[in-house]
Amino acid sequence: MPPTIPEKQWAQVVEEKGGPPIYKEIPVPKPGPDEVLIKIKYTGVCHTDLHAMKGDWPLPLKLPLVGGHEGAGTVVAKGELAQGIEIGDKAGIKWLNGSCLACEFCKTSDEPLCAEAKLSGYTVDGTFQQYAIGKAAHVTRIPEGVELDAVAPILCAGITVYKGLKESGARPGQTVAIVGAGGGLGSLALQYAKAMGLRVIAIDGGEEKKDMCKSLGAEAYVDFTQSKDLVADVKAATPEGLGAHAVLLLAVSEKPFQQAVAYARPRGAVVAIGLPANAFLKAPVFDSVVKMINIKGSYVGNRQDGVEALDFFARGLIKAPFKTVPLKELPKVFELMEQGKIAGRYVLELPE
Ligand code: NAD
Ligand code: ZN
Ligand code: ZN
Repeated sequence: MPPTIPEKQWAQVVEEKGGPPIYKEIPVPKPGPDEVLIKIKYTGVCHTDLHAMKGDWPLPLKLPLVGGHEGAGTVVAKGELAQGIEIGDKAGIKWLNGSCLACEFCKTSDEPLCAEAKLSGYTVDGTFQQYAIGKAAHVTRIPEGVELDAVAPILCAGITVYKGLKESGARPGQTVAIVGAGGGLGSLALQYAKAMGLRVIAIDGGEEKKDMCKSLGAEAYVDFTQSKDLVADVKAATPEGLGAHAVLLLAVSEKPFQQAVAYARPRGAVVAIGLPANAFLKAPVFDSVVKMINIKGSYVGNRQDGVEALDFFARGLIKAPFKTVPLKELPKVFELMEQGKIAGRYVLELPE
């Protein structure tokens, strides 16, 4: 018996730029030929969802919009061309909802760079609803037995930081400075870094985040709200004081994007991942050249990065703190996020 799918469902809908999200009933969407319909059980709240609502980025937004792109649940319907996934399978919807699969970027496994990419909770409706749609080729299978609440944040935050760490080129035993380590991406970056054999210096603000970062394996914590000389403090925490082999910039403020080169080790990499509004990456040309710094951006991950990031999780290597609240509480989560008060991630539970 295929699952019965209702006509209506609960969702959080952003009706105008700036929000707030409105909790209301909307129709359940129908999957197209190459799509699946997933009954979402849990969905993480990424800072990207807040950027989207606020209209922070130079990228047109769908309105009205159902946000959310860390949704985990069960496939309840599929189109006739949806391959490799069956009704009843556990699966997740990521930021990359779909791509053309035919352009140069898609052909070379760089599908996040596809000009036709569809973005969950941004250009198409996402996972802050009970039933969400994803392209069959892009949804991520979730192995049986994996907890759907804990795995939800892996679908964006986990994949993104795992990819960023790979892009950094840092090797086991080397030191990575994680900027914004106390946030959603940061807490997972700490765990992936540790699982990949890296040593971590965490940078964020406040005691709660300090305790969390230490418990997740950071060797040192530098508090950007307290430090009188952040660059010196970060360098002092690295082996021989030479600086970090890699810097992962996950913060939602511009300043660290202009400081990182100063505490990167010669030959080190600075990887920009956070997306603060109207911000610029800036570095002194002289230092960047004579230290041979590799400055780059990193944007989510491809389908295989998703499989690998999930595999680390399924093997029990990734455990980051999260709090679960009902879908209805999204506005409160956004408020805490705006104030920088969330250590780890919030996960929303969808009504049955
Ligand atoms: P979050 O709000 O959970 O975490 C951000 C953290 O940065 C907070 O802990 C905050 O205290 C910290 N922070 C702020 N200013 C800082 C400073 N000066 N120094 C050190 N830490 C500082 O947000 P999140 O969900 O982890 O997302 C982080 C960013 O990454 C967002 O901008 C989001 O849009 C972006 N993002 C990018 C990608 C990508 O593919 N590149 C994917 C997902 C999210
Ligand atoms: Zn995200
Ligand atoms: Zn493409």
